[in-house]
Amino acid sequence: MSERNYDVVVIGAGAAGNIVATTCKEAGRDVAVVERDGWGGVCPLRGCEPKKTLADVAHAANRVRDLQGKGLKGDVHIDWPDLMRVKRSFTDDISDRVHTYLDKKNIDTLPGEARFDASGILHVSGHGPVRGRQYVIAVGARPRQLDIPGSELLLTSDAFLELDTMPDSLLFIGGGFIALEFACIAAAAGARVTVLHRSEQLLKGFDPDCVGELLLAMEKRGVEIITEHLPVSVEQEADTLTVVARQAKNGTEKRFAAKLAVLGAGRVPNTDTLGLEHIGVKTNTHGVVVDEYMRSVSNQAVFAAGDCAEYGMALTPVAALQAEVVAHNIIHGVSRRCDLSATGTTVFTDPPLSRVGLLEKEAQRLGVDCVVHSGNAAKWSEHKRLGIDHAWYKILEERDTGRILGAHYLGQHAEEIANILGLAVRHKLTRADLLAHPWAYPSFGYALRYMLS
Ligand SMILES: Cc1cc2nc3c(=O)[nH]c(=O)nc-3n(C[C@H](O)[C@H](O)[C@H](O)COP(=O)(O)OP(=O)(O)OC[C@H]3O[C@@H](n4cnc5c(N)ncnc54)[C@H](O)[C@@H]3O)c2cc1C
Repeated sequence: MSERNYDVVVIGAGAAGNIVATTCKEAGRDVAVVERDGWGGVCPLRGCEPKKTLADVAHAANRVRDLQGKGLKGDVHIDWPDLMRVKRSFTDDISDRVHTYLDKKNIDTLPGEARFDASGILHVSGHGPVRGRQYVIAVGARPRQLDIPGSELLLTSDAFLELDTMPDSLLFIGGGFIALEFACIAAAAGARVTVLHRSEQLLKGFDPDCVGELLLAMEKRGVEIITEHLPVSVEQEADTLTVVARQAKNGTEKRFAAKLAVLGAGRVPNTDTLGLEHIGVKTNTHGVVVDEYMRSVSNQAVFAAGDCAEYGMALTPVAALQAEVVAHNIIHGVSRRCDLSATGTTVFTDPPLSRVGLLEKEAQRLGVDCVVHSGNAAKWSEHKRLGIDHAWYKILEERDTGRILGAHYLGQHAEEIANILGLAVRHKLTRADLLAHPWAYPSFGYALRYMLS
């Protein structure tokens, strides 16, 4: 097959790859995008969006349950097959729509697996050699596997999002955001749920006081949280799976049985099968090692963005921002740095939990003197009206300047509180600025006054 030549070859058509491709094309570059699976990537097909469809319904059911005897009468139940039908109505045509959109932009779409050969030439299965003056690695990440006997019996997060029926019991391995979000969904749908985590603290990147309150909320809904247990094997007998786990401190083994078990033990970048070593691109366990311009530190013709870039959290808005930086640096020359300092992130548990800026322990480590505004948000009428009895906040204010440096919040509309406080962190707003704003009332935005007074 004859060689194809482009200005820019983007590998991966997820959130990151598509932004780089369309922006470079609009600036007049000749662009190809390679995709081996679904056009659109994880976020709309197997990540944020399908997850949120399930979570929204799960949380709505919980709201009805929380308000029993408080103005509502009559429980609801989740019709899982119907919910999956609704979810698929959002996801089924995404790949075609994204593909059509890229085609309309006159971007060459190359379906197939990309890999650099030993002479550094990129091959795309079904298309032969493809040469770019610049390459963008935007291949994302995949669920981490456990290297233990029987691990093939564990479901991935992708499989959970495709479950046709909800089993009566489910076990989640892992203490990250995916395991906890799915645990809340499954519990709301009526399953008996256990979360098994290897170390003491779940959700390590979040405020421990907020996480503690979240675990109480989950336990109240029947989720059993087991910490400091390391899975060592998985067995299947009839329709029951048993995960054998070793207690971290005393080494004793315990057996946890459920109908299905889902592995939520993190994600690994898809950089290991690309042959990047043949073009001198340095990688580590977090992905392509990049500089502040999102350019490979070892090959100047290569950029990376999204979950497969070493720098930044694995989140859709991070992938989008990095992609904008990459596109800018390809089009205008390497001049724009990637600033992720005010990235907001939310775990869509029930209640949801968000984080923006510094954690309290990070501020202490940096020697920043902070006033810590922290307390129980469940006593606000905003939460009481909804029957929510576990909520917490913590805001870090720099003592000298009054600037907001970090914000952590467990409660209703956590994602929007993170958006407001992310702006405050980014634009160096102070406590006084936030208190001076005439927030709509009653609202969770207004509750910032309770948090900061
Ligand atoms: C269950 C779940 C829930 C999530 N929820 C949230 C959330 O609520 N909020 C949030 O911000 N983030 C969330 N995320 C993370 C978010 O989905 C990712 O950060 C985002 O999708 C990353 O986009 P990306 O473009 O870097 O990678 P991807 O979307 O993974 O795209 C990479 C593409 O590259 C393709 N590819 C890989 N290797 C090759 C190859 N060799 N050749 C050709 N193509 C290749 C893949 O098929 C894929 O389509 C969630 C993730 C998961 C799994």
